[in-house]
Amino acid sequence: MSKNIFARIAAGEVPAKIVYEDDRAVAFRDINPQAPVHVLVIPRKEIARIGEARQDDTALLGHLLWVAAEVARREGIANTGYRLVINNGPHAGESVPHLHIHVLGGRAMGWPPG
Ligand code: AMP
Repeated sequence: MSKNIFARIAAGEVPAKIVYEDDRAVAFRDINPQAPVHVLVIPRKEIARIGEARQDDTALLGHLLWVAAEVARREGIANTGYRLVINNGPHAGESVPHLHIHVLGGRAMGWPPG
């Protein structure tokens, strides 16, 4: 049984604006976008956060990064640039316990992040 909101989105139980999906990953628009393009890439597999990933998840983790780059191409931000973010734990502001990569673009961003 699916437990968290992102697992439920991946299962098709909760609606989302999906921009990409395959057998291992789903990408959908963030409900509270922080940039003109703000997409979340998640694995269908329930991994709570990057720190919970196992060594045998490495192929999946690589696939998620490829999906993030593919989403950036499809969203038209590949040439202007974009940022990939993974928040892990309380100090990083993680709020949903299902691994997700933020794909942010469409505007210039500051560094260091807040
Ligand atoms: P994080 O703070 O890294 O855990 O990011 C969680 C992100 O999920 C936030 O940017 C939220 O706006 C986003 N979010 C939460 N619920 C939903 C939802 N149902 N659909 C799309 N994005 C969501």
